[in-house]
Amino acid sequence: MTSYVSTRGEWARDPQPFCAILLEGLAPDGGLAAPEAYPRLQPGALEAMAPMGYRDLAFAVLSRFIGDIPHAELRALIDRTYTAATFGSEAITPVTRLEAGVHLLHISNGPTLAFKDIALQLLGNLFERVLAREHRELNVVGATSGDTGSSAEYAMRGKRGVRVFMLSPDGRMSPFQTAQMFSLADPNIHNLAIDGVFDECQDIVKAISGDASFKRRYAIGTVNSINWARVAAQVVYYFKGYFAVAPSIGAPVDFAVPTGNFGNILAGHVAKEMGLPIGRLILATNENDVLDEFFRTGRYRPRASAETHATSSPSMDISKASNFERYIFDIVGRDPEIVRDLWHQLEREGGFDLSETPHWTNVEASGFVSGTSTHADRIATIRATFERTGVVIDPHTADALKVGRDRADPVVPLVCIETALPAKFAATIREALGCDPARPAIYANLESRPQRFERLPADAERVKAYIAAHAGSPV
Ligand SMILES: *Cc1c(COP(=O)(O)O)cnc(C)c1O
Repeated sequence: MTSYVSTRGEWARDPQPFCAILLEGLAPDGGLAAPEAYPRLQPGALEAMAPMGYRDLAFAVLSRFIGDIPHAELRALIDRTYTAATFGSEAITPVTRLEAGVHLLHISNGPTLAFKDIALQLLGNLFERVLAREHRELNVVGATSGDTGSSAEYAMRGKRGVRVFMLSPDGRMSPFQTAQMFSLADPNIHNLAIDGVFDECQDIVKAISGDASFKRRYAIGTVNSINWARVAAQVVYYFKGYFAVAPSIGAPVDFAVPTGNFGNILAGHVAKEMGLPIGRLILATNENDVLDEFFRTGRYRPRASAETHATSSPSMDISKASNFERYIFDIVGRDPEIVRDLWHQLEREGGFDLSETPHWTNVEASGFVSGTSTHADRIATIRATFERTGVVIDPHTADALKVGRDRADPVVPLVCIETALPAKFAATIREALGCDPARPAIYANLESRPQRFERLPADAERVKAYIAAHAGSPV
């Protein structure tokens, strides 16, 4: 049974079961929860998994990470989560061939048209189950500039014991993203439109999380991208993508992944560590190229938020990749002391450099390669892909396809991960193709539906007062 330790050493003598880390953010020592050891696939396991449908595959993968929910119950929870009604088809994450040797893995067919649904829909059901058993309630507080907030709201709407308070910068999301969130009528969803920019929303959430007595009194929690259950849920579609295109079990397959917080591609790394024969993980960044710089040079230098560019693949506009610490934990031989030293150095000096250290050979052996894609690359890739194949891709997928094609190995199949549908990013599609992207029927007239939200100033005390008034009975 897989138990969990912190990347900075906590729980090393007392590894935690899955449900104990599910509702937590950072570990008490500031590190991230990581499996004590990755569950390795036994001989024959890949052959057994290859013909499985998504739900069977999800159970085969997730039961190796979740040891403290009875199998029958986990099975039922997975069956309730990954349905054709929620994800558009029985395949859940279908694979299509784009051109010779290049495939698209469609992981963005969930309710909000972005891949975060894959993990958050599961998280909603896991939260409901764990809270009910422990007779607890949770008030999820988060900040969003678009995709994460809507995915979290669609996952938690109507769930017993959970309320969501989602802060967003008033008037700064796209009309589609705004309407997607603000049109939800569920009483457990609270949209707080903050008079400020995204960073101010984020700072308010940090202030609330930093107020230990408020946090305890109102049972405040988060669903941010460091949540381990999100990573585990994402491991499943790497198996699905692999089996869909591998010419034979054991042959390598490369994946190209548009990367922001390093959550998606970390799941690929975990799949590889479990024994899935992934060849290379091709990491694509946009103009915010901190991770490309690391994989090319060994230098990790996160930028300040003021130096973060606002781009046309906005979900990758991240200065500090919150999941990167889990990868570095593996690279340094899972020695928490080295992780602590590196993160101290990060605080003191603003970065670290692994190129001249013995760890660099582990980075090279991990199969990561990287590249950067710019706005001009996105537009050219969307246009060329449409002209050649008739397929319209979103700007994030375009980043992955651009870098993936540059790095492709002619004899290894490439799976490029589609992380959002183009309907979410109409302005960029219009710039590239001169016409609007198709929109799924469920979102027809989205912008004209009634909207429900509360306008608040960028003031943590005012937000706390709102939460206190709507958080149910304090504990
Ligand atoms: C969140 C997101 C990404 C980045 O994924 P990470 O897991 O943060 O690396 C890429 N594309 C889209 C559309 C997203 O919503």
